Amino acid sequence: AQSRYASLRELPATAACGTRVAMHMNAGLMADLPSLAGSGAEGVGLFRTELQFLLRSRVPRRGELAALYSRVLDSAKGKRVVFRTLDIGSDKVLPYMKPQDEPNPAMGWRAIRVGLDKPGVMRMQLQALIRAAAGRPLSVMFPFVAQMSEFEAARRVLLNEIERERRAGHVLPTSTEIGAMLETPSLAFAPRSFFELTDFVSIGGNDLKQFFFAADRENERVRRRYDTLDVSFLDFIGTIADRCAETNTPLSFCGEDAGRPIEALCLVAMGLRTLSMRPASIGPVKHLIRKVNLAELRSVIDEAREAGALTVRPAVMEWLARQPM
Ligand code: PEP
Ligand code: MG
Repeated sequence: AQSRYASLRELPATAACGTRVAMHMNAGLMADLPSLAGSGAEGVGLFRTELQFLLRSRVPRRGELAALYSRVLDSAKGKRVVFRTLDIGSDKVLPYMKPQDEPNPAMGWRAIRVGLDKPGVMRMQLQALIRAAAGRPLSVMFPFVAQMSEFEAARRVLLNEIERERRAGHVLPTSTEIGAMLETPSLAFAPRSFFELTDFVSIGGNDLKQFFFAADRENERVRRRYDTLDVSFLDFIGTIADRCAETNTPLSFCGEDAGRPIEALCLVAMGLRTLSMRPASIGPVKHLIRKVNLAELRSVIDEAREAGALTVRPAVMEWLARQPM
């Protein structure tokens, strides 16, 4: 399948209507980096840093992490890599962390909540990232931000660490981008000042969908119960895109749906212009985007919604079947 899309590797994901969509890849291991060239991704839109913590029997040391992040940046050869800070708790439990006996871990003490309450590990990780990015751009995003105040606090920790490095006379990153993952519905309703403050927003669709429909993403019984193309969810994605557009805040989508061609198409129709997905999905998603007129798809979605459809999937499939492929 990879070879089928090889001819698209160097071509942009530009739709028939002229809309350009940036294609990035998700990664989490050094071994993923060769796919950056192989897939034609423009960068790493989500580097899940927790895998390095999950693979060890003890907390990794700052030096080890800095060396690893530096190798990741070397392999990216100047392409942007967005490092997501440690996202533990819920489904990701560190072997050396005291188990938290929580009745509902997905909504419990996880991700940025742990980072803010016990800042030692988060600070160490941020220091490692700053060192690794010395003399080059640094992009960091914080997972599972539910409120603006959490983002402000985490951002402040990062800026303080950069200031500390500066005072110590170390070489600093040439630029620093600090973003937030939108994975809880509440953040979509944060004040305008949040969207002005953050350098970018990345929708973590796996968690966002879980909390939007209150359906556990780990529970086989309910995880496929609600459709990403449900009118209510697509409307919500459209609201987020509109809020980001008001403040010119760059927006991306990095959940699994970005790598599902039909879902990706609908996300783009709702206003997304950057998608990040597993490398193998880039070819199929790009292939489809290049074939269609997104403005026309948006009308199909709007018409289905106005006609009272619950999900736009049948209308979209019917429209797609009529497209010259
Ligand atoms: C998400 O929630 O969509 C996401 C990208 O993060 P993870 O799947 O690692 O929770
Ligand atoms: Mg998530």
